[in-house]
Formats: sequence, structure tokens, C-alpha cells
Amino acid sequence: MSCTGPVRRILGCRLDGPTLAGALDLIRDFIASGRPHQIVTLNAEMAYRASEDALLRDIINRAALVTPDGAGVVWASRLLGSPVPERVAGVDLVEGLAARAAREGWRLFLYGAAPGVAEKARERLLARYPSLAITGTAHGYLSPAEERELLARLRQARPDVLLVALGSPRQEYWIDRHLKELGIPVAMGVGGTLDVLAGEVSRAPRWMQRLGLEWLYRVAQDPRRVKRVLALPKFILKVGGQALKARIKDARPAP
Ligand code: UDP
Repeated sequence: MSCTGPVRRILGCRLDGPTLAGALDLIRDFIASGRPHQIVTLNAEMAYRASEDALLRDIINRAALVTPDGAGVVWASRLLGSPVPERVAGVDLVEGLAARAAREGWRLFLYGAAPGVAEKARERLLARYPSLAITGTAHGYLSPAEERELLARLRQARPDVLLVALGSPRQEYWIDRHLKELGIPVAMGVGGTLDVLAGEVSRAPRWMQRLGLEWLYRVAQDPRRVKRVLALPKFILKVGGQALKARIKDARPAP
């Protein structure tokens, strides 16, 4: 099962256009089906990387759902003539998911981030949603042996939703490699979301989010991220090239 709707491609990556509520309904359907589904939250940096990384591109295009995580991909969808209705930021999707999971009894597992962070995120989520079932947590710096133990724990815990916070593209590769054998209905790469849920990192103020400047706030918080922001102008140029090509093709008279 995957998301239906117009097919949008940004630098060769599929992008779906669900609203936040629509994405949560799809997650409900994925869980009900019992079969494994990968969810990708696409931002400009990941799309640019995928345009040069065939495996990542393939993972994105095979995913059950690809949501517009960043302002860059929302902008690109407009320029390419197939706008998504709204940005569905990974953090908002996870917040909505936690609220819905508490109501519906979906079981979550949090994997990734520095030692202690997933556990803190779990405590803070439970303070907000006491009925939420979080079947386990693990940090994201495991040795190969510890990772094998984690896989065994996951098979036992049998969560409905696995949130993987290893950063992109590591989390997308990890999910792709393990999802089938784990048989978890929903696995989603969530980047720095556990850090936000744990209160280790704060989110940009609403006005910055509205202006599409969340990336700038994140760079101000952690200047090491500046290197990653350099992908943004490259993304813009490449999307501009894609839009131009599409227009030239459309303007050509039919043979
Ligand atoms: N991380 C991890 N293991 C690793 C590398 C990174 O658990 O080997 C975590 C890191 O601690 C952070 C998250 O992955 O919590 C990456 O967050 P970031 O904001 O960089 O995500 P991205 O923007 O790449 O999606």
C-alpha cells in the first residue's frame, strides 16, 4: 500500500502531498495492513543528495509515503507546477503521531540520537500522553554486536511504529536494510526529532517556520550544520534546471 495522488518528482525523487491529518490516516492504514512500510520525510538536502545517490533515490521512490518535510521541497513542488498542499515537518508528524498513537493504542519504539536522548524523549512524551505505549528505546551509537541485540529486541517488542533518528541518509539505509526482516508496519526516519522531543534542541519560532527559515535557526544553534546548508543553493539551481527543461519540453510543438 502506498500514498495515492498526483505523481510529483523533485530531482528524480517522488514526493507525496498528504496533509498532516492525511498522513496520520495513511499511517493508520499501514498499521492495519500489518505489512512493513517505510516513510521518508524529504527535505532539500536529502533530495539533492538523492539526485547523486541512486540507492537513496531508489529507497525514496519505493517508500510507502514521502512527506514534504522542508520549505525547500514545498517551494520546488510549486515551481514544478504540482504544489503540495502544506509542509508536513517531521517533528509535527511525530507529535501528531504520538497524540494519535495514545488514542489508538499504537505501540512506538524510539531508536537513535545520543545516549539518554531517546529515553528522555520517551519520558517527556509519557508526561504528555500517559496512555502512550512506548515499547522500548535505544541510542544511535551502537556497536555492531549491540545493533544485533537491538534487532532481537525489536523482534520481541513488536512495535507498530519505529522512529529511527540516525540522521539522513543513514536512517533511510538502515530502515531499508532491516524493515522486511523486522516486519514492523511503519518505520520512519526522523532526523533530529528525538533531540527536539527530549528538549535538547529547541524548534525555530513559528514566524521563522512560516518564512521557511527553520534551517537558518538550526545553523545558528549548531554552526557545524553550515556545511550541510551549502546543499541548498545547489538544490535551488538543480530544481531551476528541472523546471526549465520541463517548460522547454511543454513549449515544443507536438510532432
Ligand atoms: N545520530 C545517531 N547516530 C549516528 C549519527 C547521528 O544517532 O551515527 C543522531 C544524532 O545524534 C541526531 C540525529 O541522528 O540526534 C541527526 O540529527 P540531524 O538533525 O542531523 O538530522 P538530519 O537533519 O540529518 O535529518
